[in-house]
Amino acid sequence: MRIDLHTHSRASDGTQAPEELVRAAGAAGLDVVAITDHDTADGWAEAAAAASEIGIGLVRGMEISTRHEGHGVHLLAYLPDPTYEPLVAELDRILEGRSARLPAMLARLRELGIDIDDEDVRRVAGDTVSTGRPHVADALVDLGVVGDRTEAFRRFLSAGRPAYANRYAAPLEKMLRLVGEAGGVSVIAHPWGRHGRQEPGEASLAALADAGLSGLEVDHQDHDAEARELLRGMARNLDLVVTGSSDHHGTGKVDHELGCNTTAPEELDRLLDLAARAAARSGRTTPTVVGG
Ligand code: AMP
Ligand code: ZN
Ligand code: FE
Ligand code: FE
Repeated sequence: MRIDLHTHSRASDGTQAPEELVRAAGAAGLDVVAITDHDTADGWAEAAAAASEIGIGLVRGMEISTRHEGHGVHLLAYLPDPTYEPLVAELDRILEGRSARLPAMLARLRELGIDIDDEDVRRVAGDTVSTGRPHVADALVDLGVVGDRTEAFRRFLSAGRPAYANRYAAPLEKMLRLVGEAGGVSVIAHPWGRHGRQEPGEASLAALADAGLSGLEVDHQDHDAEARELLRGMARNLDLVVTGSSDHHGTGKVDHELGCNTTAPEELDRLLDLAARAAARSGRTTPTVVGG
């Protein structure tokens, strides 16, 4: 059983349509894949239809922008009811923050002498409601300013670079509560990602577990072997589920191929069991893996 619990489609900043993503997951030999676009469930229906057709399991999820103790935290929410009104309201606020940030970023790029406007971004972003820096990066590639997304982030878009602009992210503990009320389960994506910092540490994670956190994405390309071992130990101490995933973005992110990290079947079973309990608590029917 090969299980990959974190991927992106064109419903956010991946480069493949949801259907294409699911077909690619099948072709990569995965038995189960989760679609986890940023802050939206828009890709779910198309992905589910493709999963049923080709006979691969689909876990419906999303990667939600939150903040905690002054840091951005990406929260993977699996199987929440995407129509639960308080969750929808918070996601809408995040999506508005994404849209509102765009003009500021483009204005800063124009100050640097780059001729770019929102039409350039709209052209590459398609009809996603979840616009992000990767779309600005793609527009810069199209305009011939940079060679790829990586260069765009390094020169302009990463935090601390000249075209970076902040945006709204939901308080993490509030989001843990909303996901649980919506009958879903929460896993922190790449907890020590990118910066290699060892925060949140075990004490913070223990508090988050009490606040409804179910798991940690330990096996991720942003974690070296040492980070993975430390996180695995903390997950064991705190009885948190351990997941592994690619964080695939199509051709948008190098070294994140489908299935490059995977989740053990018994860990997925634990997540599904926790989701079933959350659903029962909120009077919902048990959420299921589609297809497969
Ligand atoms: P945003 O959602 O607008 O804050 O942008 C964050 C997204 O940009 C995340 O999905 C990252 O995967 C992606 N990202 C961050 N750094 C890079 C990079 N160097 N190359 C490609 N994508 C990146
Ligand atoms: Zn992304
Ligand atoms: Fe992320
Ligand atoms: Fe991601």
